[in-house]
Parts: sequence; structure tokens; C-alpha cells
Amino acid sequence: MQILDGKALSLKIREEVKKEVEELKTNGITPGLAVILVGNDPASQTYVKMKAKACKMTGIYSITHEMPEDISEEEIIETIEMMNKNPNIDGILVQLPLPKHIDTTKILEVIDPKKDVDGFHPYNFGRLNQGLDSFVPCTPLGVMELLKEYNIDVKGLNACVVGASNIVGKPMAALLLNSFATVDICHIYTKDLKSHTKRADLLVVGVGKPNLITEDMVKDGAIVIDIGINKVDDKIIGDVDFENVSKKASFITPVPGGVGPMTIAMLLKNTLKAAKNER
Ligand code: NAD
Repeated sequence: MQILDGKALSLKIREEVKKEVEELKTNGITPGLAVILVGNDPASQTYVKMKAKACKMTGIYSITHEMPEDISEEEIIETIEMMNKNPNIDGILVQLPLPKHIDTTKILEVIDPKKDVDGFHPYNFGRLNQGLDSFVPCTPLGVMELLKEYNIDVKGLNACVVGASNIVGKPMAALLLNSFATVDICHIYTKDLKSHTKRADLLVVGVGKPNLITEDMVKDGAIVIDIGINKVDDKIIGDVDFENVSKKASFITPVPGGVGPMTIAMLLKNTLKAAKNER
């Protein structure tokens, strides 16, 4: 069994991004990212801080617009429209989840698709599904980079994606399909989850349920990617029972240190891509 070390790869990517940012700066261009954070959700606050820190370390300019929980949709939209017009801002990211009174789809659709570094705009999602160049959501993009780093070719593999959200599972499945895997997508209403996971050469799990995937659900020699992040007794664990599943897997991502750091690295890459596209 080999560990897919997302932490190490993310550091390598950060260095590459840093070099490219330095080059852009010599041409008078500083890539810029605007982050919109609404409310006081501690996890969201932590993620936004991590993103800002990563930007700083790579020389990307970042600004966080912090907004109170009871802010109106109109005020968020006005801020996004301002950022859409700002020539120093290449990427715009709205940290999810948004408070219940805000229509998330409506907000995401206001972001200029050329600045949509999270890849959540339906325009980019549509292009991704057609196999066209687009901004791809950072988490599934990070998974693909990790597979590439370890020379894992997904062509022809039976892949099973557990979790079908717009930001994780669906784009993950689209990327795997675009790379010619045969893809099974499972979700909360899937009957007999094990019958699907057990057949998978490549099992990707992004649900948010600790130990959802146990050893008996995994094929011998499978590649296992755990996207889940769960806080249990002050510890961060994934959706896969790592201790037992790792004994059966050929490759597996740890949590933490697997997909999480790759997500942030891909945000930096997407911001750089936006700056290179538009300036
Ligand atoms: P979500 O709640 O939007 O979606 C969860 C998905 O899992 C849904 O499609 C649902 O149908 C499915 N699901 C729920 N229970 C299930 C079950 N018992 N069996 C099969 N499917 C089931 O969540 P999300 O935003 O997609 O995030 C999923 C997980 O990934 C969370 O733990 C989140 O913290 C984590 N995440 C990690 C990163 C990272 O950088 N590593 C980034 C984003 C999300």
C-alpha cells in the first residue's frame, strides 16, 4: 500500500505557483483573489484564513470581504459585481455554506465565469461536462493532480464516486469520465452502497460521514481517495476507516494530509490561470 501524499505535492505546487507569480510580477501583474465570507461559521473562517495565508505565501494578493450573518442578498451581489469590475481582482470566491436566507445559486451565478476560480458557476460546470477548458472545482481537480503525480491512469478503470454534491461528487465524476473511467455515482438514496463500492478499482468518497466506508466495502488492491472531513473528538478524520481499509488498498489518501491541502493548492493554480487568461 502506498500513501498518496497530498501535503508533499501541494507544497511542490505552491512553489511552482510562487515562481510563476514572481514572473508575472516582473511584467507588472499581481494576481488577485477576492474572498467573500458571510457569517461566523468557525470552519468557514478557518478555511478562509488558510486560503489567505496560502495566497500570501505565493505572492498572490488577496482580500477578504467579511459580512454579517444577516446581510441581504443584494449587498452580497453588489460586492461581487464590484469585484467583477475590479481589474486587480482575477478570482472571486464565495465561501460556502451561505446562511439559509441567501439563495446560493443566485449568488454564484453573479460571479463573472472568467473569475470563477472555484468553478461553481453553471457556465464552468457545463463546460467541464462537455470536456472543454473551464475552471474546475478545486477539490476534484486536486484529486486528479494527485492521481497524475503517482502515475495512476484512470482510463478504463471502474470508478465509484460516493457523494454527488455540485462542488465535490458531480465534478469529480465528470473529470473521471472525461479521462475515460467508467463511473458509478452514489448518493444518499443509493440502494446497497457496498455492491457499488466493492466493484471499484478507484473509490472516491466525499460525503461527510466518519467511517462510512469499511474494509468489507472495498475491493482488494483498490485506489481509495477520501475527501471527507469530519471532526470527531477534536480529531479530523475522513469518511473511510483508514486503519482497516489501508490494509486492502493499493493507494490511499490520509486525512488530514491528503485531498485537503491539494484543494488549496488548486485554488492558487486557478487564480494564477485566471490572471494569465485575462491580463
Ligand atoms: P454535501 O453534504 O453537499 O453532499 C454530501 C453528498 O453525500 C450528497 O450527495 C449525499 O447524497 C451523499 N450522502 C450522504 N449520506 C450518504 C450515505 N450514507 N451514502 C452515500 N452517499 C451519501 O457535502 P460536500 O460539500 O460535497 O462535502 C462532502 C465531504 O467532503 C464533507 O465531509 C466535506 O467536509 C468534505 N470536503 C472536503 C474538501 C477537502 O478539501 N478535502 C473540500 C470540500 C468538501
